Amino acid sequence: MRLLRTVCSALPRGVRRCSGGTHNKVRVRFAPSPTGFLHLGGLRTAFYNYIFAKKHGGDFILRLEDTDRSRLVPGAAEGIEDTLEWAGIPPDESPRRGGMFGPYEQSKRLNLYHEAVQTLLENDTAYRCFCTPQRLELLKKEALRNKETPRYDNRCRHLTTAQIQDKLSKKLPFVVRFQLVEGAPSFKDLVLGWTQHDVASIEGDPVILKGDGFPTYHLANVVDDHKMAVSHVLRGEEWLVSTAKHLLLYRAFGWQPPSYAHLPLLLNKDGSKLSKRQGDIFIQHYEKSGYLPDTLLDLISNCGSGFLGNQKGRTLPELLEQFKLERVSSHSAFVDLSSLPEYNRIHLSKRIDSIESRAELITQLQTVLQEKYKDLTFNKDYIERILILRKGHLCMLTDLLSSNYSYLWIRPSVYLKDLHSLSNEATEIGNLVVGILQKSHNDMNLETLSKDLKIHLQQLKATKYSVSMKLLRRILSGLEAGPSIAEMMMTLGPQESIERIQNALSS
Ligand code: GLU
Repeated sequence: MRLLRTVCSALPRGVRRCSGGTHNKVRVRFAPSPTGFLHLGGLRTAFYNYIFAKKHGGDFILRLEDTDRSRLVPGAAEGIEDTLEWAGIPPDESPRRGGMFGPYEQSKRLNLYHEAVQTLLENDTAYRCFCTPQRLELLKKEALRNKETPRYDNRCRHLTTAQIQDKLSKKLPFVVRFQLVEGAPSFKDLVLGWTQHDVASIEGDPVILKGDGFPTYHLANVVDDHKMAVSHVLRGEEWLVSTAKHLLLYRAFGWQPPSYAHLPLLLNKDGSKLSKRQGDIFIQHYEKSGYLPDTLLDLISNCGSGFLGNQKGRTLPELLEQFKLERVSSHSAFVDLSSLPEYNRIHLSKRIDSIESRAELITQLQTVLQEKYKDLTFNKDYIERILILRKGHLCMLTDLLSSNYSYLWIRPSVYLKDLHSLSNEATEIGNLVVGILQKSHNDMNLETLSKDLKIHLQQLKATKYSVSMKLLRRILSGLEAGPSIAEMMMTLGPQESIERIQNALSS
C-alpha cells in the first residue's frame, strides 16, 4: 500500500465547516458494523465523534452498517447502542432514537443504494460485472503464484452494450463495480495533513453492489454520509486507505465530500495491535466487572491525545472543555490496560464525593449485598459511612464484597482463648476500649478516637500497643490486616464495636 502523507503543520488545521454544500452544521457519525460488540477501539471512535459534535454544537449520529448479512452477530446492534448510553455518550440520532435522516440501519436503505448505483451506471462510472466466482478464483491463484497481490483485472469494464444486453437477457448473475480512475484527489486530513493514495494503480475495480442486491461498505458509506449531511468523518486510521475510493465516488456522483480526520491506531503497551480477539477489550466486559464509564473515557482520552496533556481523573465536562481536534496527534496511541484499576479508584472517589452519584452507588451496593447475603438487610446510612471512610482505598465498588471486607457485613467468630494467646490482658484491653467507646459515643470522630486509643493503650505495662491493635483487629474483623482500628470502629459505629468486644470477651 503506497500512501503519500505529508503532515503539513503550516496549513491551518482544525474544524472546517463545509462550505458550498448542504452542510452548515457539524454532523458526525459513528458507523460500526454490528458484527460484534463494542470494544475499546470502537468506543474511542464513538467518543471522539461525540465530543467533536458537542464541542461544536453539532449532531452525533449512530448508523449501523449492517450490509454484510453473513457476519451479523445477534444482539450486537442493541448492545452497541446500550453501551453508548451506558458510557454517557448517547447519539442524537440512531436506530432506537430515530431522526430526520433515518432509517439508521443500512439494511433498511437499500432503495437509496440502488438509486445511487443507477446514477453511476448511467454516467458510466460503474459497470456490471458478469465474471464467475471460478474466474475470480483463477485470477487470485495466478496472482499468488506470481507473488503479486490479487486484484480484479477490470475485464467487464470493456463489455459492449450489446454484450451486456445479451448477458442480461440470459439472466446471468452480475455484481456492479465502480471504475477506479487514475488520479485520486489528494485531501487534507484534519489529523494527518495532506494525503494522497493512488488507489487505481494498486487495486482492481471494487464491487459496490453485490449479487444479493446489498451494497458493499464503500458505496453505502458514501451514499449515507452524503444523504445524512455528515460534515466530518472521524474514524480510525485503518480506514485511511478507503478514503481515496470514497473521494472518487463523491466525484462520480458530483457531491461534495465531508472533511476527514483519521484517528491514530490504538496499540497495546507492547506495540501490538489492540485486537477484537482479546476478549477483555469489550466494553460490556468492563461494565460487568464494575468499571465506571468515566474510567474508560479517561483512559481512552489519555492515550489518544486531543486534550491538554495526560492527566488522570478528568470527567466528561472537563474533557469537553479541553478537546481540540488540532491536539490529536498523528502518532499511534498506546493503551495501558493495567492502569484501569487506578483510573477507577480515582473516578470512584469522585463519585463518592458527589451526593447524587453516591446515592446511586449505595443502591447498587445494597442490591449486590442482598444477592450475596440473602437474609440480611443493609442500612443506607451504614453503607454511606463505609463509602466515605474507605474512599480512595477502593478500586471497585465490588471490592467491598471481598473476604477482606466481610467483617463489615457479618460478625466474625472470635474466642477469648485465642485472644489470650496474644495477650494475658485481653479482658482488660477489651473493657478499657469499651469504656472509651461509651464515653465518646455521641461525638466520636476519627482523630479523637485514635488519640484516645493511643493514650490509654500505651499505658498498659504487659502488652505492647501494636499487640493491642492486633487483638482489637481480630475482635472487630477476624483479620490480621486492614484499615486502622479507629477507622474500623468509626465504620462499624460505637454500639456494634462494643457488642463485638463484649461478645468476644464472654465467648
Ligand atoms: N463500518 C465501518 C466500521 O465498521 C465504518 C468505517 C467508517 O467510519 O467509515 O468501522
